[in-house]
Amino acid sequence: MEKIKMENPIVEMDGDEMTRVIWKDIKKELLEPYIDLKVDYYDLSMENRNDTDDEVTLDSAKAVEKHKVGVKCATITANEDRVKEFDLKKIYPSPNATIRAYLDGVMFREPITFDCLDILIPTWKEPIAIARHSFGDIYVSKSFSLKKGEELNVSINGENKYSYKPDYDAIFLTQYNKVESIKYFAHECFKYALEKKMNLIFSTKDTVVPGYDSVFKEIFNETFEEYRKEFEKNGLVYNYYLIDNAIAQIMKSKGNILWTLKNYDGDVMSDMISAVYGSLSLMESSIIGNGTYLYEAAHGTVTDHYRRYQEGEITSTNSVALIFTWASGIEKRGQLDGNKELEEFGVKLKKAVRATIENGFITGDLISSYNKKDYVKVNYIEFIEKVKEFLDKSL
Ligand code: NAP
Ligand code: MG
Repeated sequence: MEKIKMENPIVEMDGDEMTRVIWKDIKKELLEPYIDLKVDYYDLSMENRNDTDDEVTLDSAKAVEKHKVGVKCATITANEDRVKEFDLKKIYPSPNATIRAYLDGVMFREPITFDCLDILIPTWKEPIAIARHSFGDIYVSKSFSLKKGEELNVSINGENKYSYKPDYDAIFLTQYNKVESIKYFAHECFKYALEKKMNLIFSTKDTVVPGYDSVFKEIFNETFEEYRKEFEKNGLVYNYYLIDNAIAQIMKSKGNILWTLKNYDGDVMSDMISAVYGSLSLMESSIIGNGTYLYEAAHGTVTDHYRRYQEGEITSTNSVALIFTWASGIEKRGQLDGNKELEEFGVKLKKAVRATIENGFITGDLISSYNKKDYVKVNYIEFIEKVKEFLDKSL
């Protein structure tokens, strides 16, 4: 078979520990034999971020802006322990935060579901994905403490809007958001829902925070009018719910919903949704916006497996989300370049992963949720080999 050609590169962000090991294998076994892989490579390993004073991270984000499509391996977020372990010059910020801030995109998180794998909420027959507004609110807030008897005044251009003089010690918080950012968020969410053929729910607490949350609500309702026809044509619905009600609706639903949330709500609820789907290794994550697409797995570098790998163990680490990361990047690159062959390869790679699991070849983390009788527990190398077998059959 002749290798598939690529016109434009995919930005590749390499990472750390166990995911770095598996990442390399995925490229070698599942991509390079089939594609003349064109990548713009950035090594985001902890060592190289330290060597480059973290410049490599920003460079990689700029490359995604330029080439439009990127795939990211999991990376260590530095802390005190990592400073000692890697003899770091300082505690670097999380690469994900740096990249997210630069691309100013919307974060989506979507489970990869299988009939043969039970989830905590069995009535969710189809995926529930999350879109999190990744700008503003409490993440840009400032806190103040106020002593009993002190007076706090809020003024805009010198005009006093609000005063607060408690007869107790108190704490105070300010937060803000950008109207443009909310509008942009709404557009990206409606586009994503249409692309994935999902219904969309948006929720805030506008009854308690009118004037703040109601701006979000109005923007979403107005923006929807631009997408209404397309939604109707596809048989999709959009609903705004108060967040309490949204939770009840989601719990009772059959799935196939993009649940769109403000920054804090999205932070919290995305972890709840991940928990329902069991393994973090079955969660895809993406940052989409301004015409750029960056894909990654939701899990981290799986440090504890890496420690065992360093001792010589061939671990049973799950590579599904990492393979999907590459497959989504390839599919999108193909779509943007009008390269059907490349696009279809991405689709087939995902199907091969599905076939592997549906035929009972699973990694250790999936055993407890596997609901068919016969399965074979495989290690990370055997899993990739099996995917390759199914991929070869489909080509
Ligand atoms: P983690 O790497 O996601 O692993 C947490 C646990 O989840 C593992 O110990 C493992 O449980 C299970 N797990 C996660 N992915 C798995 C997979 N592919 N296959 C099988 N089991 C999997 O999170 P962490 O241990 O908290 O963080 C490790 C490092 O990753 C940290 O340095 C953190 O900063 C970084 N991190 C990076 C990202 C990112 O780049 N996007 C995200 C999160 C964390 P068992 O031990 O039970 O097998
Ligand atoms: Mg969280």
